[in-house]
Amino acid sequence: MSNEYHFDTQQIHAGAVPDPTTGARQVPIYQTTAYVFRDADHAARLFALKELGYIYSRLNNPTITALQDRITALEGGAGTVCCASGHGAQFMAMFPLMSPGKNIVASTRIYGGSMQQFTNSFRKFGWGAKAVDFTNLDAIKAAIDENTRALFCETLANPAGDILELPEIAKIADAAGIPLVVDNTSATPWLCRPIEYGATLVVHSMTKYLTGNGTVMGGSITDSGKFNWSASDKFPSLSEPEPAYHGLKFYEAFGPLAYTFYGIAVGLRDLGIPLNPQAAHYTLMGIETLSLRMAKHVENATKVATWLEKNPHISKVNYAGLPSSPFYERIQRLTPRGAGALFTFHVKGGYDACVKLVDNVKLFSHVANLGDTRSLIIHPASTTHSQLSPEQLVAAGAGPDVVRVSIGIEDPADIIADLDQALTAASA
Ligand SMILES: *Cc1c(COP(=O)(O)O)cnc(C)c1O
Repeated sequence: MSNEYHFDTQQIHAGAVPDPTTGARQVPIYQTTAYVFRDADHAARLFALKELGYIYSRLNNPTITALQDRITALEGGAGTVCCASGHGAQFMAMFPLMSPGKNIVASTRIYGGSMQQFTNSFRKFGWGAKAVDFTNLDAIKAAIDENTRALFCETLANPAGDILELPEIAKIADAAGIPLVVDNTSATPWLCRPIEYGATLVVHSMTKYLTGNGTVMGGSITDSGKFNWSASDKFPSLSEPEPAYHGLKFYEAFGPLAYTFYGIAVGLRDLGIPLNPQAAHYTLMGIETLSLRMAKHVENATKVATWLEKNPHISKVNYAGLPSSPFYERIQRLTPRGAGALFTFHVKGGYDACVKLVDNVKLFSHVANLGDTRSLIIHPASTTHSQLSPEQLVAAGAGPDVVRVSIGIEDPADIIADLDQALTAASA
């Protein structure tokens, strides 16, 4: 598919051609585990990566390949690997880079589940994680040591939708000879393409805006193809003969696709967390309307945040799309189409009023999700972020008086009316 096409065209066409056998126009769900080899030589060539093709759906599947190619086009990368969930994608993203004793430096402002995964579960593999305030560039530099193998942050950071100075953070990663991994879940490539700001790897929870309607789980990792994995001895899985793949030197053999091929041939093969073809199909269909949905999400979120800022029950609204936000200038520069639709606000009544608020909404759904067509609400301190310490809660922008909303694409008047009645009830 031509890279000349614009975003709105690529979100529908990239990665998809009419099915060569049937002419099916929509990408079929290839519901199969295995693929018949033409002959023994063909099978041997596929296993040796001398020829590309389908072997077994733990590694690849045509429906998933179409999705991978579409995300690659939208993010402006070299290759993409999809897997079972966003958390799976984060694990897959680090897998080629890490070994026991190595660490990552991660922003404190990330999805609570990601912090949990990094600080506790990664440790079981001997992978360390240092949490740093990424708005402080000197703190990032100070945290990097000779065992650091990646920086990790979010574009529009969870839960308050702040935006970081990505180009400066990419320069720090560059100077240290390590990749910057950006979770682009809440921005989506329509609002921000982190590779253009110097990111090496972009991960998504496709569960959210890419699929867009709360139907299936999925994750993706897109590689820019620009990182030189042989520039140092830091990334032996990619630069040295890989024992997990009969001594293949991935970077020498595949250049800009080395990381992607490693992710499929070793990562998916051994971690065993593939996406399923039906989920890939839902996500492909979701992506077809990504730009339309994101524009409406942003428009609605701006209206709701503006209304909330004037509401007497609210002490503060953290939405980078509001002129009162310290991130407003950065948004105009880095994501000029808007600040997304995920933000937080502080309720004057504190913890108790927040709990009452989520109990009194009618149109909003009280769920642990974001990026749905529906408006969603949650109180992070009692749910998604409840495993964090009080200090971590505040550092993550999820103190006891904070409510997070993911604004949907309903009529904004109905969204505002629902918050109005629930806030009145919560403050009574
Ligand atoms: C939801 C989410 C994840 C985890 O993704 P799952 O698909 O739920 O595994 C990671 N990062 C961000 C920003 C998310 O919103």
